[in-house]
Amino acid sequence: MQTVTLNNGVKMPILGFGVFQIPPEDTERTVTDALAAGYRLLDTAAAYGNEEAVGRAIRSSGVPREDLFVTTKLWIQDAPGEENAKRAFETSLRKLGLEYLDLYLMHQPFGDVYGQWRAMEQVHHEGRAKAIGVANFYPDRLVDLISNNDVTPAVNQIETHPFFQRTADQDVMREHGVQIQSWGGFAEGKNNLFTNPVLSEIGKAHGKSVAQVVLRWLIQREVVTIPKSVRAERMAENFDVFDFELTDDQMASIATLDTGSSLFFDHRDPAVAGQLGKRRLTD
Ligand code: NAP
Repeated sequence: MQTVTLNNGVKMPILGFGVFQIPPEDTERTVTDALAAGYRLLDTAAAYGNEEAVGRAIRSSGVPREDLFVTTKLWIQDAPGEENAKRAFETSLRKLGLEYLDLYLMHQPFGDVYGQWRAMEQVHHEGRAKAIGVANFYPDRLVDLISNNDVTPAVNQIETHPFFQRTADQDVMREHGVQIQSWGGFAEGKNNLFTNPVLSEIGKAHGKSVAQVVLRWLIQREVVTIPKSVRAERMAENFDVFDFELTDDQMASIATLDTGSSLFFDHRDPAVAGQLGKRRLTD
């Protein structure tokens, strides 16, 4: 598997598997299928409610721990963020049944961000999170966090797909040594992504599906991607993207699809900050 090297030397697979919106009762079977299909990067979150099922699938798979790259995410914490985040980290590790995480992400740029980050720095220094990073940080918040803390986030996981390409944001991240990771690489199928004419035409030229073209486009941009599917045949399809290459012209045609806006929610929108920023997990 092709990897990227994070700013602390940790190697991360460029393609992994996300489990957002997979109900806990389906997650063990789904992750078992994903591991059998060859995925080694698993992306979950405390907020997804399925960490325990991910842990069960890992344990029953027989895949050695050192071959896996497991990410989970810290949900928004009230002050004192440092204390609360440490507790949340222990809860996630316990639910996953793991002794360490490969990557621990702050899920949202809300709550006691600085306290949360200090706790994350601490578990990183203890070796229990090999890398720490953030998600959903726009460049201004990211640079502020970097400028005022010891550890620079290794990763920023943000909405990135053909309709919201984030090239300028990626440039800022590159400048600061932060790896971009895409969430919603297929835009969850919004905007008729899977039948988009530009993407379909490129797919035809390579004998590949639209999904494979999108993943290949992200990989060629050095964007780590974590497609989600509950179907084994799609997991295999989404993994089969290393035997072709998009030409410069094809990359340029995909670039024309960018709308520059989120298809989900803008974290800079006061209504989103107000609503999402208030959500708390019950355990
Ligand atoms: P996504 O990967 O963009 O899209 C998933 C959708 O595409 C599902 O409906 C899936 O349906 C379908 N699909 C998958 N492969 C396909 C294929 N080959 N052909 C046709 N349809 C296909 O959406 P996502 O799950 O939102 O994003 C991926 C991961 O990013 C998540 O699972 C999560 O780990 C992470 N994420 C993070 C955040 C954050 O705030 N940090 C937010 C959202 C997501 P089936 O399942 O029925 O195949």
